[in-house]
Amino acid sequence: MEHPENDEAYKGLKVNKGVADVPTVNPYLQKRIRKSFTPTEYVDGILDGNITILSQAVTLIESAKPEHQQVAQEIIERCLPYAGNSVRIGITGVPGAGKSTSIDAFGMHLLEQGRKLAVLAIDPSSERSKGSILGDKTRMEDLAREKNAFIRPSPSAGSLGGVARKTRETIVLCEAAGFNTIFVETVGVGQSETAVHSMVDFFLLIQLAGTGDELQGIKRGIMEMADGIIINKADGDNIDKANLAAAQFRNALHLFPPTNSGWIPKVLTYSGYYKLRIAEIWEMVDEYITFTRENGFFDWKRREQSKYWMYESINESLRDKFYHDPLIENRLKLVEQKVLENRLSSFMAAKEMIDLFLENISGNQK
Ligand code: GDP
Repeated sequence: MEHPENDEAYKGLKVNKGVADVPTVNPYLQKRIRKSFTPTEYVDGILDGNITILSQAVTLIESAKPEHQQVAQEIIERCLPYAGNSVRIGITGVPGAGKSTSIDAFGMHLLEQGRKLAVLAIDPSSERSKGSILGDKTRMEDLAREKNAFIRPSPSAGSLGGVARKTRETIVLCEAAGFNTIFVETVGVGQSETAVHSMVDFFLLIQLAGTGDELQGIKRGIMEMADGIIINKADGDNIDKANLAAAQFRNALHLFPPTNSGWIPKVLTYSGYYKLRIAEIWEMVDEYITFTRENGFFDWKRREQSKYWMYESINESLRDKFYHDPLIENRLKLVEQKVLENRLSSFMAAKEMIDLFLENISGNQK
């Protein structure tokens, strides 16, 4: 029987016949060597909606090599005038909350409406775990087969700030390529929500109904960021529990101060698996977008986010230059030791290092 995976629509997945002897030279090696393009070819390809070129440009953004970064920055600059024309949605929830199942269902719903969807992810732990589980094609089986969906896992290298910056830059390229809806997925465990919040228009928190004490363990800050709280797995025996959890969340939200946008966050129940009440969730998101566009908050927030990212980029670049300065790299451990042995205060140690760095760069310029 033909494997269904052989279908053209199943791009990225392929079943090969078994071989008796594994050849010593990998026959696919040739295919994996990527042709590189000029920045103009990249930009033209992206504006044309060419997914292969878009993917390769994202790979340049993710690369640590300075020559790749330089080309990537040029591509981003030239795509910027064509970017911004999308709705950006952050999606978070603890592992098991049903993020991938829900994104698959939400995505299919949006594609049916004629939208084009890019699913990106921020997972700062992916470097340690050697590979990201977020924004992974295999987790979103339906979407992965759709030509109007672009799925990209989290960039794996570096600090949260670095990973988040790369994702933000990827948004620019996706928008220039015509994706008018962007999902940014993250695991609901801490800091990464703030990073996602700083690049999206609407922040969606996926929750589960539990044993009646679901409000415990959710960081207040995360709830405060949410524009919508959606309670998943409201199906079968779980419906009553989900409704109870929704009531508890609504009560809890009343105690929060009013939001800057003037929007009152909503709480809805749904089932990602059985695709129940998905349309209501997107009606809520659309309502929010219309509401905040009308009162000016939408544009104000985007401008604030640009400002935030300017400062983030400055901080990241300064930090990078400082820690990669050979003189600093050389001295830092020694000074650290002195601090550990109480021979130098942390404050003096920091001052010494900063002074050394500043002297060094001003000396280099002379
Ligand atoms: P993630 O870790 O947040 O991406 O969660 P998954 O999407 O992988 O879902 C975790 C588990 O919950 C899987 O076994 C899903 O089949 C199940 N699940 C997800 N959504 C629903 C739902 O709406 N109803 C029910 N009953 N199970 C669900």
